[in-house]
Amino acid sequence: MNIAVIGGGWAGLSAAVRLRQRGFSVTVFEAARTLGGRARGVQSPALQTRIDNGQHILLGAYTETQALMQELGLDPGFLLYREPLALEAADGSFILRAARLPAPLHLLGGIIGMRGLNLAERWRLITLIQSLKRQKWKTQPGLTVAQWLTRGQQSAHAIHMFWLPLCVAALNTPIHQACAQLFARVLQDSLGGPKSASDILIPRVDLSQLWPDHVERYAPPDTAGTLNVHCGHAVRQLTGGWSQVALDGVPYDAVVVAGNAPATHRLLRQLSPSESGSRYLAMLAAFEYIPIATLTLQLETPWKLPQAMLLLKEDPARLWFGQWLFDRSAFMRGDALSDIHKQSGSLLNIVISDARAFMAHPQPQAVAAVIAQVQEQCRRFGSLPHVVGHEVIIEKRATFAAVPGLMRPENRTPWPRVWVAGDWTDTGYPAVLEGAVRSGRDAAEDVQFVLG
Ligand SMILES: Cc1cc2nc3c(=O)[nH]c(=O)nc-3n(C[C@H](O)[C@H](O)[C@H](O)COP(=O)(O)OP(=O)(O)OC[C@H]3O[C@@H](n4cnc5c(N)ncnc54)[C@H](O)[C@@H]3O)c2cc1C
Repeated sequence: MNIAVIGGGWAGLSAAVRLRQRGFSVTVFEAARTLGGRARGVQSPALQTRIDNGQHILLGAYTETQALMQELGLDPGFLLYREPLALEAADGSFILRAARLPAPLHLLGGIIGMRGLNLAERWRLITLIQSLKRQKWKTQPGLTVAQWLTRGQQSAHAIHMFWLPLCVAALNTPIHQACAQLFARVLQDSLGGPKSASDILIPRVDLSQLWPDHVERYAPPDTAGTLNVHCGHAVRQLTGGWSQVALDGVPYDAVVVAGNAPATHRLLRQLSPSESGSRYLAMLAAFEYIPIATLTLQLETPWKLPQAMLLLKEDPARLWFGQWLFDRSAFMRGDALSDIHKQSGSLLNIVISDARAFMAHPQPQAVAAVIAQVQEQCRRFGSLPHVVGHEVIIEKRATFAAVPGLMRPENRTPWPRVWVAGDWTDTGYPAVLEGAVRSGRDAAEDVQFVLG
């Protein structure tokens, strides 16, 4: 059977791999020239090197992504730099490091030894996480993260120092709007599993090279079927019946539409109308999007910060919008990646989630302010090497706003030969890589269940 996959992001490609494993012949259509979607490598004209469209991190708990890489014959242990959970403010005012103890004591020990919160605040933090765990990581429906924290008696200081940066990083949604249940899912993933689940994984190669570029060459042994990938091909027309669908007039037995929600909506609304179809389309139309900006600085020499990832303190009044600082030299150190190291070892990435305030200012002014922020907050590590170039990438539709009460569609649609996949489907996760990979896998399994 011939299955088309529309979209070569992490969800679409994950679906393609699983469909190929199940013996289908798969054709992937990707509108862009590069695979990876919102997590891809790009050539930076300003820096004359390949960078990511935005700094991404994964968690040890992202098991399906790591399994997928292994299925493709790749080694996640080599391609992903792994370090135990450590949240450290660049200026040293806040430090949380997982203790060298088995789970869950690694976290308990980490919180007890935490710098930046007083004893009462640390105690309330432990109590809140313990009670969430007792409630099986479920919060009351409809709660925002801010409401959940207030009910959990977290002080304004603890919220400002710890919870707020964590929430914006995990959900890319302001704490007063963010969904407590989705946040609880992130906490469950990192804190509710084995110790390795809370490890932080940082890609050492660009996000397309990490695994999406390998999909085209994937050929599982002893399995029927083929896998073809067409980049630079935007599918414009989708028509469907009971036994077939057609993409731009070409018939397939089924299709997995794996664009983001607006792109998927544009295609699905061309299919025959029905009441259930309208309800389904309404869910897709309800998503709102929040941008993320990534500022990449090219330094004259690598800075060699002691931590790959440091927390920056925002101060919008001074245009200090930086939230996280990543030093690529830290995760390229001392290994066989020397060629890549030469190109990108002197790059710093500064992440600005919910970048609406950053975007409201003239870019040169905002960039200069963020560089000043890094200089000031990292003073204890010596002076910032000379900045020889920079690139700003703004992803306007980086993630959907993770607000309470979102209705997220299932992979199976009301149209018999049409499935969807994407981080926005009903995965239980916020908009994250692991959610996208699982969504693709689940869509493929359901295609197999129905048609196989
Ligand atoms: C800057 C940034 C930082 C992020 N940080 C993190 C992080 O640290 N950790 C994390 O887990 N997640 C992070 N995310 C989220 C993560 O990138 C997404 O959850 C994930 O990439 C979504 O994958 P997807 O396949 O669902 O969708 P997409 O990546 O949006 O893929 C959809 C693809 O479909 C293609 N397409 C659409 N319409 C058509 C058409 N008609 N024909 C052909 N192709 C079409 C698009 O071109 C696109 O490539 C971040 C996102 C951004 C933007």
